[in-house]
Amino acid sequence: MLRRTLVHLSESPTAKAVVTRTPLRLMSRRFVPGETVEDFLRAAGEANALGLAVTGNYLGEAEHDERTARQAVATYLRILEGILGRGIRGNISVKPTQVGLEIGKDFLKDNLRPLLDRARERDVFIRLDMESSAWTQKTLEVFEELWAEGYRNIGPVLQSYLRRTLDDARRMNELGARVRLCKGAYVEPPHLAFQEKREVDRNYLEVAKLLLSQGVYPALATHDERIIDSLKRFARENGIGPEGFEFQMLHGVRRDLQQQLTREGYNVRVYIPFGESWYPYLMRRLAERPANVLFFVGSVVKDSPLGFLWPGNRRR
Ligand SMILES: Cc1cc2nc3c(=O)[nH]c(=O)nc-3n(C[C@H](O)[C@H](O)[C@H](O)COP(=O)(O)OP(=O)(O)OC[C@H]3O[C@@H](n4cnc5c(N)ncnc54)[C@H](O)[C@@H]3O)c2cc1C
Repeated sequence: MLRRTLVHLSESPTAKAVVTRTPLRLMSRRFVPGETVEDFLRAAGEANALGLAVTGNYLGEAEHDERTARQAVATYLRILEGILGRGIRGNISVKPTQVGLEIGKDFLKDNLRPLLDRARERDVFIRLDMESSAWTQKTLEVFEELWAEGYRNIGPVLQSYLRRTLDDARRMNELGARVRLCKGAYVEPPHLAFQEKREVDRNYLEVAKLLLSQGVYPALATHDERIIDSLKRFARENGIGPEGFEFQMLHGVRRDLQQQLTREGYNVRVYIPFGESWYPYLMRRLAERPANVLFFVGSVVKDSPLGFLWPGNRRR
């Protein structure tokens, strides 16, 4: 219930107008290290120093204006040059509706090609993030059309909550595409998506095993320790070495686990978003773990004039 409400709020302009004027802006810092390319590069350098690869995302989505969609790609080109210039171990993640999917598939492809070309020259991978089910089919079509044009430095994301995902994974394996698998962050209807966490997790494991055994360098994006342990075991038992896949996690979530996996010799990549449009991203992170809402409310109250009422502050 709370999850649904928070995801719906992530799409509400009124809620956005209210929330972005509150201290939530400061709180978004846990998940979003800053607003500029420089902020991203700093966070990326810090992650690299800890042995973590990164993927950079310039926050934005649901863009209808061609000029803004083009500006987003210009920013991605600046990120790419920053990654190359500073020797960052990293790649890029792009939301299709930020760079023009709502305007049209052809617009999006034209818009994206300069980024794909420059990234290909320097062997940098571009990930097409997956958004709500309204965009799944079109996003996969765009991906396949670019693949047919010969781009091999691009790959899609599949979401284990969608019922179609096992079939999509088979198709991606046939093509030889690099897939990121996540659970899915939007609210979807029962005819399209599993509603129970148990089913989403079961499907995650099934699809992940298929990608590990028949796919190309899959990215297993999850913070779910039970799933991670089970996939480590599956890989070991099937002779799939740690060089054959990577784990991915979000900036600011389970840093302990990110470090532990790195120490164990696994490839770990951290998704680092940056930019002004942090509101829907933050709301989806709160929705994933309602305990975060309490954590955030707690830090607002603690730092407010009512802070003396907060249990931890009373001792002061
Ligand atoms: C690298 C990466 C890329 C992603 N890309 C996409 C995408 O393209 N499209 C899409 O729909 N979704 C994407 N997601 C989000 C994903 O779909 C999930 O919503 C999110 O990862 C939470 O699911 P989980 O697998 O971690 O498992 P859950 O079952 O949600 O969580 C397992 C455990 O992880 C921890 N955890 C999870 N989320 C949080 C949080 N926000 N704060 C604190 N702790 C948390 C908690 O300990 C929780 O118990 C991405 C996630 C990652 C890690």
